[in-house]
Order: sequence, then structure tokens, then C-alpha cells
Amino acid sequence: MIEYENLARSNSQYMQELEQAATRVIQSGWYILGQEVAAFEAEFAQYIGVKHCIGVANGLDALILSIEALDLPKGSDILVASNTYIATILAIVRAGHQPVLVEPELETFNMDPAKLSGAMTNRTRAICVTHLFGKSCRMDAICAFATEHGLKIVEDCAQSHGAKLSGRMTGTFGDVGCFSFYPTKNLGALGDAGAVVTNDDALADRLRHTRNYGSKQKYVNDYVGVNSRLDEMQAALLRVKLRHLDEMIQYKRILAEIYFDNLPSWLHLPRRRDDEYDVFHIFGVRHKRRDELRAWLLEHGVKTEVHYPIPPHRQKAMSGIISGCYPISEELHASELSMPISVGHTEDDIRTVCAIFDKATSRFASA
Ligand SMILES: *Cc1c(COP(=O)(O)O)cnc(C)c1O
Repeated sequence: MIEYENLARSNSQYMQELEQAATRVIQSGWYILGQEVAAFEAEFAQYIGVKHCIGVANGLDALILSIEALDLPKGSDILVASNTYIATILAIVRAGHQPVLVEPELETFNMDPAKLSGAMTNRTRAICVTHLFGKSCRMDAICAFATEHGLKIVEDCAQSHGAKLSGRMTGTFGDVGCFSFYPTKNLGALGDAGAVVTNDDALADRLRHTRNYGSKQKYVNDYVGVNSRLDEMQAALLRVKLRHLDEMIQYKRILAEIYFDNLPSWLHLPRRRDDEYDVFHIFGVRHKRRDELRAWLLEHGVKTEVHYPIPPHRQKAMSGIISGCYPISEELHASELSMPISVGHTEDDIRTVCAIFDKATSRFASA
């Protein structure tokens, strides 16, 4: 059986370093907001190429706190992709604003810049882009649109650590970049963790305090803050994983190349462009009879996933918040299939998956 993902196997490659880091934290006797968090923030800021990184408890909080910190008028419209993971939309709602869904491009799963102008209202104040599956959105077009209309940009980089467009890192295009280090992400902690990156000094200063009760000085509170801190243990483990991030991305890109070379032509593969450095958090293909194909693959020893089975506008939580029709999102949610791709897989695993797909040709080649 080829698993979709095995985190124990992926993390065991770094076992010795992880154990050393964990021991260092245990022995330090200091577990919240200390040297490890400060060091990780500095190292991650340097990796992304920004002035500031603020560690927080998870990716959702990174988004909520960032959107809040922009101080937009309550109830502003914020443009967001109709097929993003629900967290991006939840964050907009939690921060007191109205999500306005923009349909993605079928070939990239990412927000279609051509559809931004049709979604504008006189209350639109920001765009929240998600670099889904590890591929950068077309930030050239999106930033130009935002500048033209005076909109803020929040980047949801929860799936795009290290992804670039024209050599520029995701997370550096907007006013803020929000990262999740949920264990399955390309840079994954061994628990919950997240971070915000920005070049804006005032925004960084505010976030540094809102994550910690809004307190600049112990027992003195300047903002109505929350408790959303990255802890020392996760920061120490993330420092280990960050050192291996580039080699891990390069390895996943090799696995992706095997898919591009060997998967049958009756599958829709992700679009590739020379200026996009895709980190393949997820390798998402499309097929009209996705569920049947997925069941067949499982019978033949390949586990796959679906990202995601239900579009945001169909979620019960969104009734009364989102209305309208989103046919492209519907089509993507009905046809997307996520292939095994992780540092826990060998190149042979991926070749085996491709060979099994070949066997499926007579059955699935015609839609
Ligand atoms: C994982 C993810 C999040 C949320 O991250 P958590 O750390 O689980 O809160 C937000 N947005 C996207 C696109 C994600 O994939």
C-alpha cells in the first residue's frame, strides 16, 4: 500500500536533530516566548526575505490577527478565492468583515485576477490571496489591481512556504504573509504553530503584542489582545525543519517531475509556467469521475486525498454569510484528487503510482 502521507516516516529523517532540539527546550526551563521563538522568527524572516516574523499559535490566528491589524472599517468587503481552504474565509469573518468570493482558474486552482474587477464593491478594502497547493497566485496581476484600487493584500501562505513567482517569495508581495506550520504543511511543526511575516514596522509591533494579550510590558495592556503564542518547543523543532526546507522542496519537485513525465494524458495535471516555482504542498490532478477513480486506486494499493470535498459556499457555517453560484469552485471540488507526494515517499513509490495509473487507462481514459 502506498500511503498518502506518513508523518512519522517523514519526521524520522530528522530524528536526531529533533530530539536534540526538544531536549534543549526541556532543559532550558523556559517554554513560552523565549530564545527559541526569537531565533526561529529571525531565521524564518531571513528565509522569506522580510524584516519581521511574528510567531503565533496557528495559521488561522495568523490570518485573523493580521486582518484585524489592518484596521479596515468594520464590515469591509474582502476578496477571497471561492475554493480556498475554509480557514481563509473564517478569518475574514472572525475579523469582522465580509468575504466576497472570486472564482479561481481551473488550471491552477488559484484566484483568477481577471475576475477581481467584477467582484469589487464600494466597500472592498482588501484582497486575501491563497497560494493554494504550493503554487503562487499571479501576484503580478493581483498586486497591480490592488494598487490601482487602493486595496490591502493579505497572503495566505499556509501551503506555500518557499514558493516563488519570478524569483520572489510568496509572503513578500502583500502587506502581510500568513503561515501555518500544521504538521502536514511543507514546513510542519509537531503540533500547532503559525507565523506572520511583514515589512511594515507598525504592523509587526502591533502583532507582537496582540498575540500576547495586547501587552507590551508584563501586566500592562495596550490592545484587546489574545493568547496566540508560538511555544518554545514548536519553535525549536521548526528551526530544525527550516534548515531542511529547501532540500525537502527540491525533493518534492523531483517527485512532481516523475508525475509530470509519467501520469497518463487523460488526467488533468497542474499547469506549469516557467516563472512559477511550485513547492507542491499538494499535487492536485483532476478527473471527472474522481470518486470512482479514487476508489479504484485504493483497491489497487494507492491512497489519495481530496482537497477539498465541500466548497466553502456549500458549508453550513457559511449560510447567511455567502450567497451566489460558484461553478468553477464546484467543478474543482468535484474533480480534484491529491496524489501522494512527501519526503516520506521514494522515487520508486511515485513510479509505482504512475504504473498503477497506466493500468487504469482502459477504464478511465474516456470521461
Ligand atoms: C492549513 C491552512 C490554514 C490554517 O492553518 P492552521 O495552522 O491549521 O490554523 C489556513 N489556510 C490554508 C490555505 C491552509 O491550508
